[in-house]
Amino acid sequence: MYMTSAELREAFFTFFGNNDHQVVASSSLVPHDDPTLLFTNAGMNQFKDCFLGTEKRSYTRAVSSQRCVRAGGKHNDLENVGYTARHHTFFEMLGNFSFGDYFKHDAIGYAWKFLTEVAKLPKERLLVTVYQTDDEAFDIWAKDIGVPVDRIIRIGDKSPDKPYDSDNFWQMGDTGPCGPCTEIFYDHGDHIWGGPPGSPEEDGDRFIEIWNLVFMQFNRQSDGSMEPLPKPSVDTGMGLERIAAILQGVHSNYEIDIFQFLIKATAAMLNVTDLQDKSLRVIADHIRSCGFLIADGVMPSNEGRGYVLRRIIRRAVRHGNKLGAEQTFFHRLAKALATEMGPAYPELEQQLPVIEKVLMVEEEQFLRTLDRGLALLDDALRNLEGDIIPGETVFKLYDTYGFPADLTADIARERGLEIDQQGFDAAMEQQRQRAKQANQFGVDYNQSIAIEGKSEFTGYDGTEHAATVEAVFTK
Ligand code: ATP
Ligand code: MG
Ligand code: MG
Ligand code: MG
Repeated sequence: MYMTSAELREAFFTFFGNNDHQVVASSSLVPHDDPTLLFTNAGMNQFKDCFLGTEKRSYTRAVSSQRCVRAGGKHNDLENVGYTARHHTFFEMLGNFSFGDYFKHDAIGYAWKFLTEVAKLPKERLLVTVYQTDDEAFDIWAKDIGVPVDRIIRIGDKSPDKPYDSDNFWQMGDTGPCGPCTEIFYDHGDHIWGGPPGSPEEDGDRFIEIWNLVFMQFNRQSDGSMEPLPKPSVDTGMGLERIAAILQGVHSNYEIDIFQFLIKATAAMLNVTDLQDKSLRVIADHIRSCGFLIADGVMPSNEGRGYVLRRIIRRAVRHGNKLGAEQTFFHRLAKALATEMGPAYPELEQQLPVIEKVLMVEEEQFLRTLDRGLALLDDALRNLEGDIIPGETVFKLYDTYGFPADLTADIARERGLEIDQQGFDAAMEQQRQRAKQANQFGVDYNQSIAIEGKSEFTGYDGTEHAATVEAVFTK
C-alpha cells in the first residue's frame, strides 16, 4: 500500500494511539542530562529513566517518532552513507514503548498487525530473528502469529567467550536493564545482493532490517548475574525511511519522497542531471543531519558535538565541489529541508535563518581552502606508492586546509585507498606537544583563541570556530 512518509508517521501514531499509547513528541538531538551520549540515537533515549524505574509518568504506553543522529559515538553510520541503501546520519525512528505494561506477546502482536494490516506488507516477504535462547519469542512468532519456522532465525552471541554480545541482545550498559530482541526483516527480492540475517552475506541490501523489538527482561548486576525485572518493559524502533521505501515500492531509502525532494533540489541547484549520483545522496543526507543539529542548538566547533557537525558540513561541501559547485550552495538547501520536513518538525522553520547563516559561514570558510587542499592531495596521490596516504599528508590537509581526517579518508575510499590514521594521530600529538612547549615560553599564538576561552593551541580550526561564532552572533 502506497504511503507518503508523512502518512506513515500519522498511521503509526494512529495505530498505537488506538491501542492506548500516549503520543510523545520527539526529544532534542542533544540528549538531556546524559553526558554519556553524543547524540540522541534511539527512541528510547528520552525514556531511559522510565525503564530504570526512577521516573514515573502518567502513562505506561508511549509512541513516538524520534529524530536520531548516528554519526560519531557508539553508533556511527557516517561511513555507511553513500555506500548502503539503508543508512543515514539522520533518520526518524518510529517506536512504541511499554513501561512495565505489556510484554513480548503484545509487542509482537502489535508489530505484526501494523505491518501486515495497516501497512499491508506481504507476509511472505517478512522474516524475523530471535535471540538464540528466547524460546518464548520463537513460540509467539511460530504458534500465535503463524510465521513459518524456516522464516524465524535464531541469532546467537558473536563469540562464545562473550556471552550476550549479540545483534539480538540489547543492554543499556555493563549493568542495568537488558534483554533479548526480536527483529523483523524485509526481503527486497533476489535481484539485490545480500543474504538473510545470520548468513555471511547479511550486510548486503537484500534483506533489510526494519524493526527491532527489545524486551527488557533482566537487570544485570555488577557480578554479571542476571536478575529478572519485576516489571519487564518493551522498547521498539523502526526506521521510518526503511519502511517508507517498502511502501513506496522502491529499494533504496534514497528513493523515498523526502530524499527525492532534497536530491532534486540539490540537482537543480548544481545543474546535475544524473539523479542517481552518489554525491547527491550524501548531500541530501547531510543537509538533514546538519539542519536538525543546528535547529537543536549544536554549533560547528572544534570538539565534541560541534566537531561532528563541522565534519559533516565539510563532507557535504566537498561532495558539492565534486559535482562542480563553484560557490556556496549547501546553506540554500536548508530551505528545501524546511519545506519538506517543516510540517512535522516546526523548529526547522523557526530556526531557518540561523541554520542558513551557520551553514553559510562554515561553507565560505571551507571554500577558501578547499581547492588548494584538493590540489595538494592530487599531487600527493600522483606520487603515491602503495595504497595508503601518509599520515603527514593527512595532517597537512587538516592543519593547513581544514580537512578533517575522515574527509580525506572519504576521498581516499572513492579511489580505493586508505589513510594512515596512526601516522595522522602521531602528527597531531606532536603538534600538541609543540604547542604546549610554545605556551610555556609565553608565545601568543593567536588572539582569537582567547575568544573561545581555550589555553591550548587548537590550530586552524580554533580560529575558524571563533570566527563562526562571531559571524553568527554579532551580525
Ligand atoms: P543496521 O543493522 O541496519 O545497521 P541497527 O541494528 O544498527 O540497524 P537498531 O539499533 O536496531 O539498528 O535501530 C532500530 C531501527 O532503526 C533499525 O531496525 C532500522 O530500521 C533503523 N535504523 C538504524 N540505524 C539507521 C540508520 N543509520 N539510518 C536509517 N535507519 C536506521
Ligand atoms: Mg547499525
Ligand atoms: Mg542490525
Ligand atoms: Mg537492530
